[in-house]
Amino acid sequence: MKNQMNNLLLETKKLLKKYKIRPNRRKGQNFIIDYKIIEKQIRFANISNQDIVVEIGAGLGTLTQFLAEISKKVIAIEIDKRLIQILEDRFSTFKNVEIIHGDILDLELPLDFNKIVSNIPYSISSPLTFKILDEMNFIDLAILTYQLDFAKRMIAHPGSKEYSRLSVNVYYKAHVKILEKVPNDSFYPPPKVQSAILELIPRKPPFKVIDEKFFNVITQKLFIRKNRKVKKMLQNYLETKNLSKHEIGLIIKDLPYQDMRVRNLPPEAFAEISNILWSKYSDYIHE
Ligand code: SAH
Repeated sequence: MKNQMNNLLLETKKLLKKYKIRPNRRKGQNFIIDYKIIEKQIRFANISNQDIVVEIGAGLGTLTQFLAEISKKVIAIEIDKRLIQILEDRFSTFKNVEIIHGDILDLELPLDFNKIVSNIPYSISSPLTFKILDEMNFIDLAILTYQLDFAKRMIAHPGSKEYSRLSVNVYYKAHVKILEKVPNDSFYPPPKVQSAILELIPRKPPFKVIDEKFFNVITQKLFIRKNRKVKKMLQNYLETKNLSKHEIGLIIKDLPYQDMRVRNLPPEAFAEISNILWSKYSDYIHE
């Protein structure tokens, strides 16, 4: 298998030529051509013949094929009709590859899978990550290749430059680790940005959240300006509700962390604030 795959670049170019496809940058089409990276992804994901793996953005099916050879089943999702054609031809003799044509962001994911392994389309990193986080209660792990800068935002700590709403959500749902940097020329065409393989393992919630949706809303509203004080951002938020200045003042007085900057709040603080708002004031704040 190894020798055959030393030629991944040639294979990739040949396939693209045969099907007359020019990679589409907006769809994040950078195809993996580095056998060593694929091998690592497979090893990190610890795939066995019991595993049902979802691959998001299967592309030409390079990673898909490796996954199919060792897992019970691969569910390969791809948005581009031209690539679907290739995938269907390539895997027509595989009984354990299911190909789904569609936009991952619109699709309802199947119920019966336990791992996600993908080189994701960077163009949709943010919404895709939130979608994957929603799956954390149901899967064993995800091994994903991201743009390195984005991966850094996911693992960022309070007070750091990269700390974001994403970091808070990731922290709440998963143990997250950057496992390996991936050089640009591991892909064809090479992306302009560096990449990294990231591991997400579901965790028990590290703190209590009464209503997850509302926790997400509050985290998002606070991070609109992360250099401002919590008080100011909550004021802005509450002003969009049907409340008087006086009422807003009373609610804010009741909340912790008012004088801290949003960027310095630890993840559990977002939970504390949203829990108080939700349990005491949800009648006044309709979301
Ligand atoms: N995993 C393949 C391809 C990576 S490129 C490999 O490693 O070689 C990313 C792939 O995601 C492209 O094939 C692109 O067409 C697909 N894609 C982009 N946006 C998508 C979306 N919204 N839903 C599903 N697939 C998408």
